[in-house]
Amino acid sequence: MANVARVHGTDEEIRNALECAHVPTLVACLVHLTGDLDLLRNTERPVNDFFGDVQGGISEAEQARLRDRAFEALTRYRDSGVLPPAPSPATVSEMVNYLTGEELSADYAAFLHAELDLDEQDSYRTRGLEDLDPVVKQNFTVAIIGAGMSGLLAALRLRQAGIAFVIFEKHQDVGGTWLQNVYPGCRVDSANQIYSYSFKPRDWPQHYSTQPVLQAYFSEIAKEHDLRRHIRFGCEVSRLEWHEDAAVWELSYTGPDGSPSQLRADAVISAVGQLNRPQWPELSGVEPRNDAFSGPSFHSTEWEHEHDLEGKRIAVIGTGASAFQFVPHIARTAKEVRVYQRTANWMAPVPEYMQDIPEGQHWLLNNVPFYHRWYRFAVFWRSAEGMLGAVSRDPEWQGDLQTSISAKNDELRQILTEHIEECVGNDAELRAKCVPAYPPGGKRILFDDGTWLRTLKRDNVLLDVDPIAAVEADGVRMQSGALHECDVLIYGTGFKASKFLWPMEVIGRNGRSLQEEWQGDPRAYLGITIPGYPNLFCTYGPNTNIVVNGSIIFFSECEVRYIVGCLRMLIERDARSLEPRRTVHDAYNAEVDAANANMAWGISKANTWYRNEAGRVTQNWPFALIDFWQRTLDPDPADFEFVA
Ligand code: NAP
Repeated sequence: MANVARVHGTDEEIRNALECAHVPTLVACLVHLTGDLDLLRNTERPVNDFFGDVQGGISEAEQARLRDRAFEALTRYRDSGVLPPAPSPATVSEMVNYLTGEELSADYAAFLHAELDLDEQDSYRTRGLEDLDPVVKQNFTVAIIGAGMSGLLAALRLRQAGIAFVIFEKHQDVGGTWLQNVYPGCRVDSANQIYSYSFKPRDWPQHYSTQPVLQAYFSEIAKEHDLRRHIRFGCEVSRLEWHEDAAVWELSYTGPDGSPSQLRADAVISAVGQLNRPQWPELSGVEPRNDAFSGPSFHSTEWEHEHDLEGKRIAVIGTGASAFQFVPHIARTAKEVRVYQRTANWMAPVPEYMQDIPEGQHWLLNNVPFYHRWYRFAVFWRSAEGMLGAVSRDPEWQGDLQTSISAKNDELRQILTEHIEECVGNDAELRAKCVPAYPPGGKRILFDDGTWLRTLKRDNVLLDVDPIAAVEADGVRMQSGALHECDVLIYGTGFKASKFLWPMEVIGRNGRSLQEEWQGDPRAYLGITIPGYPNLFCTYGPNTNIVVNGSIIFFSECEVRYIVGCLRMLIERDARSLEPRRTVHDAYNAEVDAANANMAWGISKANTWYRNEAGRVTQNWPFALIDFWQRTLDPDPADFEFVA
């Protein structure tokens, strides 16, 4: 069991903090503090509905009783410093069952115990590299492309494993998406408790923190693990070529001064992300960074802060996750904001979306033994399979599939429609524009505390759903012929998400170009490895995105553990290379495609970056989180071809 800190605080501080407690988490902590298992057996179990009461429906009276028990236990521990013996694994299972409100199978228990990591064993770290020859490990060089969330993670895991690495980063700092996206209002839209590395909890200021807070977190990781000296900043990799004779990848890159250079590496980890190359709308008069508009215009991911937006007439094209965050900010001071919406979004009501974590909650996270682990776990569970069941098709469902795909999906539709109606009030025109005409999950469901719709109701904001024809010198020309003049034009039109690894040229075995082979339809085995491209590993690769459950950091942690496991296999076997068997890769992708075809995003015809031009879902993981965790736990040598 991890070292247990003493409790510091006056009676009053403890009482006040307990008012902010997540009570199901508190019950788990009470077991640590008292050893009393009756708490689990004779207390109402929480119900973990995604949109339900955060306290799991535990009655007020019961919550008060549990807070009193916690007060007694905490003050006793504060004064005595004595805890009962640590709970046995069987008791921890009971605690997990209590908190999830379910009787979990052995498989789930293994997964959740690892996620909970009560003993702080760093359960996502790859084991078994300690005994390998340190000289061999240091002579094996891995090139990591990208110093964002996944690249830093890969680097620190390689460092722990004793494997040499170098990181290429096109920017001048770490942080990836959190360095690049600096538009006003930018914040994470996965709960921060789980949008953080499992081994690096943080006392986050908000439930969903803002961009500077995230950027500082990743910067701190780089510092703490001494990664900066391995990073070549300002270096953009343009080409990778596999050399079979030497079994190495040759990377071509441009340095900070623009000069071309090469480096050879035994393996490459791509950590380039999916969402960073701007997508410009296919409209007449629009060319990247050079449209026909005469005033300032820019893309959300290349925000130009030098333009003062106060008192200006601003046009915004696009209403995805980025616009959703920056429009409310610019609307506060603009003279007028005209928002062009092509497809409406479903919005999940999340009241705490922009709220600070209350003081008492900070106190609990920092003082109560094991509170931070159980609280993270509770947040994880609540969103683990999240709404997955509600976005899967029921084959018996008789309704129109372009509206809803199952009874649960229809129920979700009702809940989300009510949220829109509550916010919009009696404005029938706005309601008609804002209620989507596709099943929930057909595209990304955005988190909302009412801000978006409040913004659209402002006198200086107009939601325009008519089709655009062109961008012209004075503004936006509509297909109706009308011209809407504006002073500033902002593109919130998203990213070239389907172009994985693009614009890098990747030349694999026998001179085969990856982009040519993919033909705009990228696939990989578990999103990580690709036949014909030996010793190349992707993070956030094809079909590893999630729509309604989990956090992308969870996926990166699984992927990196797996990748280091692959490197372990290479080094242990003294093999030159490994790549997935074509049959394994193809069977896996067929399974993913079949599952995606039954999910809302595979059925709906609404525009979404989840599907590529051919209509195939290239982004999403259609299964539960446990499936990804299990499949990436340890690479199976039988899945690979090795070259000795
Ligand atoms: P997006 O979700 O792809 O949204 C692009 C928007 O531009 C859509 O509303 C799209 O309409 C519209 N659009 C594109 N071409 C158009 C045209 N010709 N005419 C009119 N409208 C057009 O892009 P995003 O908002 O940048 O978000 C992308 C992803 O980045 C998100 O889904 C999320 O995964 C990530 N993200 C995360 C966060 C966060 O965690 N905080 C914040 C921002 C972004 P259609 O819907 O009709 O295609």
